[in-house]
Amino acid sequence: MVDDEVHIIDETDNYTLKIDYPIFHIKKVDDLVVRYVKNKQDEFIDTVKKIDYKITAKYDFILNVSFNNYKDIIDIKMNTFSYTGGAHYVRDDSTYHYNKRTNKFMQLSDFFIDYASFEKIDDLAYAYLMKLNEKELRYNFNETWVRKGIASDNINYEHFMFKDSGLEILFPPYQIGPWSDGEIKIVIPYDKLNELLKEEYRGEASQVKEEVLVPEIRNLEKYADKKLIAFTFDDGPNTRTTNILLDNLEKYDARVTFFVLGSRIDNHAEVLKRAFLQGNQIGSHTYNHKNLTLLSDKEILAEINDTNAKIKEITGEIPILIRPPYGSTNAKIKQLSNLSTVLWNVDTLDWKYRNKEKVCEEILNNAHDGAIILLHDIYDSSVEGAIMAMEELSKEGYAFVTISEMATLKNRNLNNQETYFNFK
Ligand code: ZN
Repeated sequence: MVDDEVHIIDETDNYTLKIDYPIFHIKKVDDLVVRYVKNKQDEFIDTVKKIDYKITAKYDFILNVSFNNYKDIIDIKMNTFSYTGGAHYVRDDSTYHYNKRTNKFMQLSDFFIDYASFEKIDDLAYAYLMKLNEKELRYNFNETWVRKGIASDNINYEHFMFKDSGLEILFPPYQIGPWSDGEIKIVIPYDKLNELLKEEYRGEASQVKEEVLVPEIRNLEKYADKKLIAFTFDDGPNTRTTNILLDNLEKYDARVTFFVLGSRIDNHAEVLKRAFLQGNQIGSHTYNHKNLTLLSDKEILAEINDTNAKIKEITGEIPILIRPPYGSTNAKIKQLSNLSTVLWNVDTLDWKYRNKEKVCEEILNNAHDGAIILLHDIYDSSVEGAIMAMEELSKEGYAFVTISEMATLKNRNLNNQETYFNFK
């Protein structure tokens, strides 16, 4: 289980930078990740340094690393999105597959019985792309482009992961279709694949588990004459730190709201499920944490819809709230998202201070009835500072509620076109 992460965040007049990556405690893998991070970060900072004109929008750099475990293999997927002017974010996708038994990195063909078996991958990929094409009207594949992008060469199959459901293959934008189609994902189930794979890598036909999660619902009457605060936590979920928070909420009869990133859900699914089951509210913080105002309509929709789908996969529910990264939104984004926008009126700057006493102090100094407090549950100091503040505030007669509970108690409707900073 990987549960340690590094979080680097920076904000200047010219740019925002956000880097999140796990520590695997495997030297070869950690060295690879750190080298990748350093190269990409340096490249971005160099570009920013060269700016000698007034920029219209802040440059932005996002780097996240996700992983997958399958038998002896760890897949490490590194993604960079950098915006340095121009029409859109530039992305880099790099995926590696490390075998813990042999201490070597592997390519897709290494999983197959022989190269001839591997060469059947393009027909399989083609069949599943065509299925996708039929199912999702947004794609309009061009035969020549697709055939070239799926030719059975390891270079075309860098981004794969063996999942429970089968072999998941990702094609970055441009590989098999236009930029606007975004990243394209197919899953080839094991029953189509096993006869081609080496015995030790064969998988089982996946069974779809139909699990209905019923969160705890509480009677709000007893909070009717209390002062109310909505604690909100962005940028998670994060298994270790979010769990610390969840361990403590019950003590203060507290429920909070999490604005989660779609890109983190696969690696932190259990803690998200736990948060939901405890009656906390789950909202969207988009998939990759891009500044939505810099994106095309199609890209905005992908950021929002992919996150909704991931949240639904875990909780069974589509969220009704969104907090756009950096609080950056406009009328078009609101209309496309069709979710209520929730910002904040108490900013603890917890990401900057990373000091629990300071976080607690900021909360206590600014606490008031109807407040929405901005925090990030990926830092120990934020989680601990919030718990310390709850201890004090509960003595002062405050109750801690989710955004929806707050709206209900304040007799307010949550409207999709509105932006909520607080509930007075
Ligand atoms: Zn954020």
